[in-house]
Amino acid sequence: MTSVKTNPNSPEHWVADALTQRRAAHLERTLIPYGNVGGRIEIEGRTFLNFSSNDYLNLSQHPRVLRAAHEALTRYGAGATSSRVVTGTLDLHADLESALARHKGYPAALVMGSGYLVNCGIVPALVGRNDHVFADRLVHASLIDGIRLSGARLHRFAHNDPSSLEALLKRPTEGRRLIVTESVFSMDGDLSPLEVINALASEHGTMLLVDEAHAVGLFGPHGAGRIQELQLTPQPTFAMGTLSKALGGYGGYVACSSTMRQYLIQATRSFIYSTAPAPAVIGAALGALAELEAQSALGAELLARAHTFREALRDAGFNVLQSQSQIIPLRIGDNEKALRFSRRLHEDGLIAVAIRPPTVPPGEARIRLSLTLAHSSEALAGALNVLISAGKAEGLL
Ligand SMILES: *Cc1c(COP(=O)(O)O)cnc(C)c1O
Repeated sequence: MTSVKTNPNSPEHWVADALTQRRAAHLERTLIPYGNVGGRIEIEGRTFLNFSSNDYLNLSQHPRVLRAAHEALTRYGAGATSSRVVTGTLDLHADLESALARHKGYPAALVMGSGYLVNCGIVPALVGRNDHVFADRLVHASLIDGIRLSGARLHRFAHNDPSSLEALLKRPTEGRRLIVTESVFSMDGDLSPLEVINALASEHGTMLLVDEAHAVGLFGPHGAGRIQELQLTPQPTFAMGTLSKALGGYGGYVACSSTMRQYLIQATRSFIYSTAPAPAVIGAALGALAELEAQSALGAELLARAHTFREALRDAGFNVLQSQSQIIPLRIGDNEKALRFSRRLHEDGLIAVAIRPPTVPPGEARIRLSLTLAHSSEALAGALNVLISAGKAEGLL
């Protein structure tokens, strides 16, 4: 008997090879268990500023959110126990969908297990083999996976470039057409030209799906997002979002017309064939939305801090790309250099994970800083000094 390790036919063999290759390219991902979450975290008695959390408004820890989650847990129990289309739709889900529709200014909303499941599920519900999807080159993996599952033809347009999109839309095509983009890009922190893209969509009679994962909580009235901020008319066909970033919990949703919602209930496999989100999670989201509705300036406050911080980083010589949001990339390029910089920052008390391919295009490795309200202006001033000294020490500045 050959051992598992030396038998070339054993799955352990090719898996070990695949891991070795990733490690050699500085692309291996590892899981580090943390003891707490948010913008400031404790590790072995030391406080770190965490720039890799999407808990932008600190709502994951807010008493109102915790109370709402706790009440839902106590009243309904741990799980929803069946799919939304069977007996898993609780009055809580309906309440959250009404609240989200109101918040986003759409007639209806549909909540699912996560933002990933929304994007993976609704794209194949809307387009199929004979149809076309036009996607910004940098859209999130969940959208790309939805497009792949749909079998529709994918046309990628240059990042945030409506003229590139327009050229593609002008080509004659049969079948349904869907444009997908983000309103705040997750890895670049830049803003898409939504007015122009929305006008192109309506001019060409094309559906438009806008992923507002990183806009909600920050932009627009009460953090409703950029579609509301820009008062786009007609509204994009779909505004998707997540309950897991600024809202501090877990889950995803899409806002749309009532007819579209009714259709998506029939056709979205990730919605139909998965258990409904658990009561505590829905309770938390209701609490977070109520807090957003009660506060009008949380997002603006964070964006103001981010602006000051970003301009100081730019002045110091960092390449912050076209960021205009709470997400500030420090473009490095090389995977290993990005990892080394991230490790040095960790030694200096900052958590800022190196983002590498395939999350970003090859040669575009970066440190992605995401600011949260747990980062006070004083803390940010300290972090700026750390980033600049570390950048110099690593030869990046
Ligand atoms: C995080 C993210 C998602 C997925 O949302 P989850 O709720 O975390 O699954 C979708 N789109 C974008 C742009 C994201 O950044």
